[in-house]
Amino acid sequence: MKVCTTIAEIQHELASFDKERIALVPTMGCLHEGHVSLIEKAKRLADVVVVSIYVNPLQFGAHEDLDTYPRPFAGDVQACQDAGVDFIFHPENLYPEHGIQVSLQVNDLSQKLCGASRKGHFDGVVTVVNILFNIIRPHLAIFGEKDFQQLSIIQRMVADLHMQVEVVGADIVRDDDGLAKSSRNRYLSDDERQQAKEIYAALRLMQSQADKHSNINDLLTLGREHLKQHNIAVEYLEICDEISLEPVTHSQAGTTARIFVAAEIGTTRLIDNLPLTNNEEQPCV
Ligand code: AMP
Repeated sequence: MKVCTTIAEIQHELASFDKERIALVPTMGCLHEGHVSLIEKAKRLADVVVVSIYVNPLQFGAHEDLDTYPRPFAGDVQACQDAGVDFIFHPENLYPEHGIQVSLQVNDLSQKLCGASRKGHFDGVVTVVNILFNIIRPHLAIFGEKDFQQLSIIQRMVADLHMQVEVVGADIVRDDDGLAKSSRNRYLSDDERQQAKEIYAALRLMQSQADKHSNINDLLTLGREHLKQHNIAVEYLEICDEISLEPVTHSQAGTTARIFVAAEIGTTRLIDNLPLTNNEEQPCV
């Protein structure tokens, strides 16, 4: 495995793989089993796996955790080595010194769910992913369903802009109690960590009752009450169509409805999602 810190270096390395399939796994580092599952999927689907590690300033709001975002680089290198990654791309900066003049913008898909409170976040995401695609020129790129809205938006970016890359989604990896693995879980105190598992419990409760409640609002009330009982501040709890991300109005088995949640535990913002209809999804640990 080689760590490349400049664009010239990674492009020079990849130039010798003109016949192989190259997969890119974009990350912000602080790697955990969720990221490793993406890498494993990339290894199954491609010959060469590149993991980018870049905390993208463009996707953080003014009051978000850009400065404190964990950057345990040595551990990340080890995790990539163990997972069989071929190249880490770890640039110091991906933008012009005096700021970027031309960037990408997401329309309606970025206004809902996480985008409603994180203005400009998805514009920052698609801009950096586009830059990474242009540098690495991967045949495929893997993104986790943990950030389902992000995955949807990147799929739309590739379709709308006719980009020559296949976007592949990967299942959410969870702790034993169901909490979705996240780099931000390390911000949680022991008590908060206990509270956090109730986010998944609320989603499972709603999923298990989906057949009985034909009214979406009843299901949402059920979920909200569960979160309230555990003193969890909900930013949003919605049941939306997986493609349009528009709220669905009635529960229908077999549709592409998905439950989306964002909640604050202490000062830590966590997100999760689950299909409304249980497609034999098991916690993937
Ligand atoms: P991040 O480093 O948080 O930007 O995440 C990098 C990639 O890993 C994104 O595609 C995420 O959706 C994915 N990811 C993060 N956590 C998980 C998880 N628990 N399970 C699966 N994929 C994940």
